[in-house]
Amino acid sequence: MTQGCARGFGASTTSLSQVLDSVAIVSDSGQAHPPLTPSQESTLALLRRSGEPLVFSEAFVAGLRDEANEALAHFADRLNGNTMFITKHTLGSLFDCEAHFLAPDEFEWTPARAKGQVSHRAIQLLINWRGDAVPVDLVDDAIGRLINEERGLGGWLDTLDAADQADLRAQSCDLVTKFMECFPPLDPRSRPVTESSTQWPVDGLILLRGRSDLTIGRPVGRESRKLIVDLKSGRQVQRHREDLRFYAVVETLSRQVPPRLLASFYLDAAQAVTEDVTEGLLRSALRRTLDGINALIEIKFEGRPAKRTPGASCRWCPISADCPEGQIYLHAEDDLDN
Ligand code: SF4
Repeated sequence: MTQGCARGFGASTTSLSQVLDSVAIVSDSGQAHPPLTPSQESTLALLRRSGEPLVFSEAFVAGLRDEANEALAHFADRLNGNTMFITKHTLGSLFDCEAHFLAPDEFEWTPARAKGQVSHRAIQLLINWRGDAVPVDLVDDAIGRLINEERGLGGWLDTLDAADQADLRAQSCDLVTKFMECFPPLDPRSRPVTESSTQWPVDGLILLRGRSDLTIGRPVGRESRKLIVDLKSGRQVQRHREDLRFYAVVETLSRQVPPRLLASFYLDAAQAVTEDVTEGLLRSALRRTLDGINALIEIKFEGRPAKRTPGASCRWCPISADCPEGQIYLHAEDDLDN
């Protein structure tokens, strides 16, 4: 039993595992779905609910919200009217290296950087597609829709020459194809939602915002049934886990029912890495969030010098040439490579 959570809430309702079972084998047209691949089977096994229903106590959730409300009120007094949007990127970048976080943002789109957003948009279409979906069609449709939005990525996509478009299409098709091969097919009855935004509180100087790649399921009363999934290319890093824990906190503060399970799905490795949501996880994720907001106020508004923390982010840090700590780290990395 998860610490502090009640399991054993009436057994008569349809469990998410039952839903996921049906998801896997029935298409929306009612036709039998092709047999699952081994990686789809193993992913389904990891995401499937087992044991008794999970219900967090009302007092625990209320206590978490009270703690967050109290802390945000305290932080707001130190902001002198400034506002803050706190996302997983804010916290991840800040904890990687405060000096890098404050450095001018020299971000530029490239096909390799854009493939994540394009493929996520294509997967969003896939999940709501009727009939057989072909990865390249989904990707082309996603690119067209992003261009029509004429902001951010869309503006850049509209300027691409034929070769860069082909490059982006190839990289995005690779991710979409992997998702189709490795992730269990999703039935609308399991309430799959892509790019779902969550925010807490509704208004104020400090807002916490999450946007998860995929959620599956929904709470039933106070019973936690929702899965939050982030799709990842590349290798597993601790920050992915922290990102999901942040989503879980924002979900709990706003919806008042914690999610059941967090999963990073690694498309290259065709593997899900999951973590159960517990009271301890939510408490420590809220603590990390509040520590991050405190650090942000200190370095942005209260004059504390930003700490320099050498690490992987030195490789793409715009101020690395003038950072002695970063140079030592990068030279050590080069020595290792040689
Ligand atoms: S080079 Fe490394 S240590 Fe220096 S500011 Fe950049 S990320 Fe931080």
